[in-house]
Amino acid sequence: MVGSRDRRPSPVRSVAMGATGQGGLTLFRFRGIRVSVDYSWFFVLFLVIWWLSGFYRDVLGPGTSDLLPYLLALVSALLFFASILLHEFGHALVALRNGIGIDGITLWLFGGVARMERDTDSPGVEFRVAVAGPLVTLAIAFICTAIGVALTGPEEFRRAALTEGNTAIGAVPAVLGWLASINILVLIFNLVPAFPLDGGRIARAIAWKKTGNRASATRFAARLGQIFAYVLMGLGLLSLINGNVVGGVWLGVLGFILNSSAKAAVAQSKVASKVEGISVADLMDPGPPVIPASAKLATALDDFFNPYGWPWFAVTDPDGRFLGLLAEETVRNVPPAQLETELVADHMAADGGEAHMAIKAEAPLEDALDREELPRLGGLMAVDSDGRVVGLLTAQAVQRSMGADGQWPAV
Ligand SMILES: [Zn+2]
Repeated sequence: MVGSRDRRPSPVRSVAMGATGQGGLTLFRFRGIRVSVDYSWFFVLFLVIWWLSGFYRDVLGPGTSDLLPYLLALVSALLFFASILLHEFGHALVALRNGIGIDGITLWLFGGVARMERDTDSPGVEFRVAVAGPLVTLAIAFICTAIGVALTGPEEFRRAALTEGNTAIGAVPAVLGWLASINILVLIFNLVPAFPLDGGRIARAIAWKKTGNRASATRFAARLGQIFAYVLMGLGLLSLINGNVVGGVWLGVLGFILNSSAKAAVAQSKVASKVEGISVADLMDPGPPVIPASAKLATALDDFFNPYGWPWFAVTDPDGRFLGLLAEETVRNVPPAQLETELVADHMAADGGEAHMAIKAEAPLEDALDREELPRLGGLMAVDSDGRVVGLLTAQAVQRSMGADGQWPAV
C-alpha cells in the first residue's frame, strides 16, 4: 500500500527484494494472486474473538456450556475474514478479467485490500471493479439469511441477526445471523461515496463518465473521502470522550488513514494531469545495452558492469525479448572461480509474478507512475509489443518531465 519515495536509484537490494514482494504472512495463492495477512491482522482477530465470545454467551442464553461461545467466536471470526477475502477476490478477479494485474490481497487492521498493478483506464472498468466487492458481500449476506431463515423461521432469525441478546437460538443460526449482519455493515460502510472506499470509486467512475476527465473525477471523489474521514475522526473523538477507548482510537486511526489516502489520490491526479499525452517512448533512452541470458557472468562484469558502472542491466533472450534484471551485487557475490562458468540466466531476477520491471513503450507515462518498481529500481525497461527491449525509462527522466515542483505520487 505504501510506495517507496526514495529518489536515489538503489536497484541492487531492490531487485532481490522483488522476489518476496510485500511483507506479512503468505496464506495461499489463488490464480497467481498472493493472499497474505499483515501482522496487525492478528490483533483484530484477537479482538473479534474476545468480543464475540461474550456476545455468543449472551445470545445462546443461560445453560450453554463454557466452551461453546469460544468455539463459535473462533468460527465466526474466521468466516468473517473469509467474507472479507471473498469481497477482495471480487475486485481482483474483475480487475484481472479487464487486463489489470493484481499484486496481491492483504488482510490487515482495517479489513482487506486488493492491490492493482495499475489504475483502471476507463470509467466502465473502474465501475465494474469497484462494484464487484460489494456485490460479493451482498451475496454472502443474502446466502446467510436464506439458510438462517430456512433453519429457524424469519422472526427468530431476525432477532438473531439484530443481535437481541438471550434469544436462546441454536448455534448455527446464531453464527449465520451474526455473519449476515456484519456483512451488511461492511456493505454499507464500503458504499459510502468516499474515495478510496468502494462507494468513492463508484462515485469517481460516474464523475469520470460524465466529465470524461479522470483526474478531476478522482479529485472530486477524494474530496468526498476527506470529508468522510473527518467525520470518522470526529466520531472517534466523541467515542473517546464517552469512554470507549478502543472504538474511539480505531475510528480515529481509520479516519486518519482514509484522509491520507484521499490526499495522496488528489496529489496523484495533479501529477496525472501534468503528464497527460506523454508516452513512455517520449521519455525513454532508446537502445540501452542489454546482457544476453546465455552470457557468462565474467562477460557481464567485463563488458557491462565494469565499463558502465550501472547497478543493473536488462537480460534478454536471443530475440532481444526481456527476461529480467541482473544486479551487480548478485554477480559480485559469486565466488570468482565460478564467474567463468556460471550463466547470467541462472543469476538474474526474472520478470513476472509480482515483479514487473518492463512497460510497453507506447503506454501512457501515467502507467509508469503507478509502478512501485520505478522509484524502487530507479528505472523500468521499455519493451515493444513482442516484449523486445527498446528503451530504458529512468526515474530521473520522469522527474525532469514533471518540472521542478514534480512530486513523486504517493501510492
Ligand atoms: Zn471493496
